[in-house]
Amino acid sequence: MSQSEMHHHFLIAGAGIGGLAAALALRQVGQQVSVIEAAKELGEVGAGIQLGPNGVKVMARLGLQEALMKVASVPESIVIADAQSGKPISRMLLGQAVTQRYGAPYVSVHRADLHAVLLQAARDAGVQIHTNQLLQKYEHSAQQICRLDGDLAQKYDALIGADGLYSAVRAQLLKDGAPRATGHAAFRSLIPASHMPPELCTPHVRTWWARDVHVVSYPLRGGELWNLVVLAQQAASDQAGWSLEASEAQVIQCFDRIEPELLGLLQAGSLAGWRRWNLFDRKPLSAAQMAQGTVALLGDAAHPMLPYMAQGAGMALEDAWQLACSVRMHANVPSALTHYAQTRAARNARVVRTAQRNGRIFHLSDAVALARNAVLAWQGTQVLGMPWLYGYSARD
Ligand SMILES: Cc1cc2nc3c(=O)[nH]c(=O)nc-3n(C[C@H](O)[C@H](O)[C@H](O)COP(=O)(O)OP(=O)(O)OC[C@H]3O[C@@H](n4cnc5c(N)ncnc54)[C@H](O)[C@@H]3O)c2cc1C
Repeated sequence: MSQSEMHHHFLIAGAGIGGLAAALALRQVGQQVSVIEAAKELGEVGAGIQLGPNGVKVMARLGLQEALMKVASVPESIVIADAQSGKPISRMLLGQAVTQRYGAPYVSVHRADLHAVLLQAARDAGVQIHTNQLLQKYEHSAQQICRLDGDLAQKYDALIGADGLYSAVRAQLLKDGAPRATGHAAFRSLIPASHMPPELCTPHVRTWWARDVHVVSYPLRGGELWNLVVLAQQAASDQAGWSLEASEAQVIQCFDRIEPELLGLLQAGSLAGWRRWNLFDRKPLSAAQMAQGTVALLGDAAHPMLPYMAQGAGMALEDAWQLACSVRMHANVPSALTHYAQTRAARNARVVRTAQRNGRIFHLSDAVALARNAVLAWQGTQVLGMPWLYGYSARD
């Protein structure tokens, strides 16, 4: 992307993966960027994420593929098994096969490491980042926006709400209430390699499926750490928070029966400790909602989704890249933001809906689960599918 002649001042609320990627991408097209972050210190909570080739391609376009690959792992395949019997259900090839098919690898990475790569690059590019600054209220006109919660003197040409699930920018822009409690929860644990059952220390994304629950595990930091998440349909899953208390008993009671290998893994998770994360999403936004005048939404602020496509961060990265492309193409800020939203809304909506559908498929039981398994067995081992998702490259 070449630098544009124009020079606007963007205010980004939120220094998560989406906000930092947007800040960097906008700097790379010659914009002035200030980021305000509510947290006192910069950093990421949480554990691992998977980044499909579509997300890795954005990192490459930001000039960060090498930095990413220094901290990422490249699993060789996704291995799916039945959580009760341990019987294999299917296997999908990742590794070289994905790189060949989609032009970039499928990786797993600690969120903190991905965040650190983006933060360093944003700082090096001259992005101003201010912590301990909660955006509460703003005033926007067709020409500019102004914070109304402290920084009164400062006016900006645009505001990007990258402030996550409980976005204050969205609340003011759309007044559409709280996100929807999906009735699903994620129990997560980060297991040091020394605690892992040795037979599961293989370079694969492993997943086990059962009625109303599935488990995902994959290596981080070259296998030093293992990310383990149990995703279950749960009563009373409406409490907010990224790191709620959770116990081994709560995890075990998600299952009717657990095959021995998986049980060993869950016990290793218990040794390392469990945290709970209730899962929320929202109905997809139209383009007209995603950007209005000089304000636009990005990442989870725009499209929080169930993690059953492992694409929330991927979509935030794609949004960020597209935003910068649109700004480069359109000198007028509202036109650029409208173009950004028009380019992103349908794709984000498709991913949100596919994630919901995946939840239903992973959590099937009885005869329909057997039918699902038979279809997957009949398809045999294939390279990870969905070219519409993984083969996507944002335009530049
Ligand atoms: C269990 C689980 C597993 C997941 N696994 C994957 C995966 O494998 N792959 C994947 O791609 N995605 C995954 N995701 C989704 C992914 O984590 C999110 O989609 C992504 O982190 C969203 O990034 P963001 O920058 O939009 O929002 P956030 O990461 O939420 O960042 C928002 C930032 O804004 C700040 N903020 C909030 N309010 C304000 C305010 N008013 N003023 C200023 N700052 C504010 C916050 O402190 C925060 O730093 C998973 C999610 C869950 C729950």
